[in-house]
Amino acid sequence: MTNKTKRFLLPEERIPTQWYNIQADMPVKPQPFLHPKTHEPLQAEDLFPIFNEECSRQEMDCTHRWIEIPDEVRDLYKQYRATPLVRAYELEKALQTPAHIYFKNESVSPVGSHKLNSALAQAYYCKREGVTNVTTETGAGQWGTALAYACRAFGLELAVYMVKVSFMQKPYRRSLMQTFGAQVTASPSMSTRAGKDVITAAPTCNGSLGIAISEAIELATTTPHCKYALGSVLNHVALHQTVIGLEAEQQMEMAGEWPDKVIACFGGGSNFGGIAFPFMRHNLAGSRQTEFIAAEPASCPKLTRGKFMYDFGDESGYTPLLPMYTLGHEFQPANIHAGGLRYHGAGVIISQLLREGRLRGVDIEQNESFKAGVLFARTEGIVPAPESCHAIAATVREALRCREEGRSEVLLFNLSGHGLIDMTAYDSYLSGDLVDFAPSDEEIERGLAGAVSL
Ligand SMILES: *Cc1c(COP(=O)(O)O)cnc(C)c1O
Repeated sequence: MTNKTKRFLLPEERIPTQWYNIQADMPVKPQPFLHPKTHEPLQAEDLFPIFNEECSRQEMDCTHRWIEIPDEVRDLYKQYRATPLVRAYELEKALQTPAHIYFKNESVSPVGSHKLNSALAQAYYCKREGVTNVTTETGAGQWGTALAYACRAFGLELAVYMVKVSFMQKPYRRSLMQTFGAQVTASPSMSTRAGKDVITAAPTCNGSLGIAISEAIELATTTPHCKYALGSVLNHVALHQTVIGLEAEQQMEMAGEWPDKVIACFGGGSNFGGIAFPFMRHNLAGSRQTEFIAAEPASCPKLTRGKFMYDFGDESGYTPLLPMYTLGHEFQPANIHAGGLRYHGAGVIISQLLREGRLRGVDIEQNESFKAGVLFARTEGIVPAPESCHAIAATVREALRCREEGRSEVLLFNLSGHGLIDMTAYDSYLSGDLVDFAPSDEEIERGLAGAVSL
C-alpha cells in the first residue's frame, strides 16, 4: 500500500450547494401517486394539507435535475458536514480481502445518523412557509431525534408519536428527543381517532410505524399551522440525502478510485438513495457501470419478496396510494432490533429503478448483521447502528467473495449511523439471545391482501 490515507475530508466550501434529483434523469418516470379513495392521480397541491409546499413540489418534480440547498440549511450542514469518507484498512485486513473497502461516515452528525440531512431541510421549509407546529412518527427514535433538533434550530414545536414498543425499550431515545424540546407520545395513543380505534380493537397493541404515521398525519391535518414530516420513503427525503453521495463522489475522486459496488442498508430507502443516486446518474448517462446493493432485513423483505403494487404508506390508509414494492401496509414485521428497517414498503423512485434492474436487494438475518457490526467495531472503532450493520454485512459478503475469486473490487458503503444508544441490542447479540426471523410465504400473502392491484 503506497498511499495509506485513511480519511478523505472535504473543506466546507465543497459541501454541495445543490441536491441531485434523479427523477429528472430517469428514462421511465415513477408512476403517479393516487388519491386514497378516488384513485385519481395526484398533483403536488394535493399534498399541501399534509406536507409543506416546497417538499410537496420536490416530491413530484421530474424536471429539475439540480435543486438549490437553501443557505440556512447549508449553514447548519456545516456543523457536521462534509462527513468523512474512510478507507477501512483494518476491516480489509481482518477479512483478508483484496477488496478496497470505503465507508461514508454519517454517524458523525450531532444526532448520530444521516436523518438530520432531511430533517434540517424539512424544518427550514416549514418555517419559511409560516408553519409553527410539526408532527411526525418515529420507530427506533433516530428520525424523531433528528427532527427534534432541526425543529429546535428553526424555532418550531414538534410532537412525536413514538412506536410504543420502542418508547418502552428505548428510553434514551425518548430522553434525547425531550432534551431537544420535542413532545413525545407513545403510539397507539388515545389522542387521535386512529390511535383510539387500534386500542379499542387490540388493547395490548405495541404499535407500529404505520399506526404512528396515521396518528401524526391526523394531528397535522386537524391542527392549524401544523404540518407532518416523514423521515424516509418519500422522494423529497431521498433528494435531501443525496448530499451524502455528492460528497462521496468528490471524496472517491480524492482517493483516486471509483466504486464497483455501492451498498447501503434499506428501510424506506433514504440513505440508500442518498449515497446511490449521485453515482447512479453516471450509469444512467452510460458512462459507468457501478452496481448498487440494498441490504434489507430478512424479517422485512420488501425488495426481494414483496410485490410491486399500489399501497398505502401507513396502517390506516391516510396517505396517498404509492406505486412501490411492498409487503402490504398491514404486514407486521417481527420485532428485530434494527427498528429503522421495519417498514413495509420501498420508496417510489427506488421501486421503479428496481423494476428496471438498476439495483438489487439482499436479505440479511439479524445475527449475521450484528456479527458484521461487531467485527466493524473491533476493527474500525465505531459501533454501528443496528440498521447500518446490514450494510456492513452485505459489504462483508462482497469482500469475502472477492477473496474467494482472488479479485480486487472497490466497495463503498454508507455508515448511516452509530449504535451507541442501541447497546441493549448488542447485549442480546453478545449473550446469544438474538433470534433470526423470516416471514413465511403465507404471512407475506396475507400482508399483501390489503394492497391494491392496479
Ligand atoms: C432510519 C434509519 C435507517 C433506515 O432508513 P432509510 O430511509 O432506509 O435510510 C438506516 N439507518 C439509520 C441509522 C437510520 O436511522
